[in-house]
Amino acid sequence: MRDLRRLPLLGLLLAASGLCWAGPDLALREQEIQQCRPEDIVTWGDGQDRPALASPLLLAYSHAGAPAWFTPAQVLATLERAAQSWSRCGVASRVSLLQPGQALPPGGVFVQWSEIGSAGNFGLANLSRRSLAMNPAMFALLRERKPNYPAEQTLQMVVSHEMGHFFGLMAHSRRCIDVTSYYSDGKGGECQVADRALLKAFGEYRSVLPTACDIERCRRANIPPHP
Ligand SMILES: [Zn+2]
Repeated sequence: MRDLRRLPLLGLLLAASGLCWAGPDLALREQEIQQCRPEDIVTWGDGQDRPALASPLLLAYSHAGAPAWFTPAQVLATLERAAQSWSRCGVASRVSLLQPGQALPPGGVFVQWSEIGSAGNFGLANLSRRSLAMNPAMFALLRERKPNYPAEQTLQMVVSHEMGHFFGLMAHSRRCIDVTSYYSDGKGGECQVADRALLKAFGEYRSVLPTACDIERCRRANIPPHP
């Protein structure tokens, strides 16, 4: 998730410190994002994919309680990128900005900043409550611990991941690159990656937007049943 334009310099810096990783590996990560072979669809088996919550999926965003360093337009654009990307699987979506006091559209998903609603995670999708919560406290902590880390990339990944649950992906992917992935199960199980060294080279290896495999799973989950 690093800015590609900065990478030549970064590569040189890493080479100087004996930790070189160069161009072809980056191409490999990009290839993992773009390609989905049948054997690439692997999950942790922690859920059963199903059709999207609604089609079209309406996502209404309230900026109340957002971290000061994110503007409403920035978060809205982040949501729109995620929604448009997921909609490639054939489920239409629409993102809107909720003004203070404005009611949620019928059947809409409430996208909000809420420490309680995200239950200690960066983000949380609560399907029964139709709530997609992002955690302002976690973003504050990230900024404190890693002030130079691009927070908007984390926001994009969190939003893309949680939105995926509303598009019907209930199981988490076991393929590291997928935006719906978990890296490990906490019991020694690890996600799958073309090159494990590359996984370590990135602070965050996951794609910020749905990969070809995320989209393929979404497509399969949303195939209309035969009459
Ligand atoms: Zn999840």
